Amino acid sequence: MDIILFGMQGSGKGTQGKILAERYGLKVFDMGSALRAMIASGSELGNRIKNTVESGNLVSDDIIMEVVEKFLASEGQGHNVLFDGIPRTANQAEKLLALLSSHERDAFALDIKISEKVAIERLTKRRMCLDCKEIYPAFFKGDKCGECGGDLVTRSDDSNLDSIKQRLHNFELETKPVIEDFYQRDRLIEVDGEQAIPDVTEEMIEKAGYLFS
Ligand SMILES: [Zn+2]
Repeated sequence: MDIILFGMQGSGKGTQGKILAERYGLKVFDMGSALRAMIASGSELGNRIKNTVESGNLVSDDIIMEVVEKFLASEGQGHNVLFDGIPRTANQAEKLLALLSSHERDAFALDIKISEKVAIERLTKRRMCLDCKEIYPAFFKGDKCGECGGDLVTRSDDSNLDSIKQRLHNFELETKPVIEDFYQRDRLIEVDGEQAIPDVTEEMIEKAGYLFS
């Protein structure tokens, strides 16, 4: 069973996703990393993506599906996959599910739920290492990066409340209906993302357990 991981920015989805993937032996398909890796590969598909990005355009859903398909045929072969950062829209969801089913794969969604209020609170307070760009959550107390010793600063886009609100609004508008659709089809696990982080992990691991037993 593949997992489609949802969560508003600030939900801790990236970190929780890695833990879930490790626990149940899933290969992680992270949309942002996958596109960057494809560009870096210098392949024909990578070059097409590079040209699109450099000309300031959005990578089309069809190209994104090509990237997913390559992943399924390589790293995903014989493994369950955790999708992070895809689908963002109803159109992507439709294409992704069709692609998975054509590979005789099946997906269940998991949503780490937080309110917009909590998301804004967390996003405005988190910091980033100036050197290695590691992100530190609001509760991290130190002033130096644990990875490289660099200085931690508030991310410039995070300090801009309007841009945060815009991103959350896009999530509500485009991604929420996709999550709702999984819910309607009884293909959704909901996890309370506003608990202490270890409790979020525990609830997620426990609720997802039956999918892999
Ligand atoms: Zn650092």
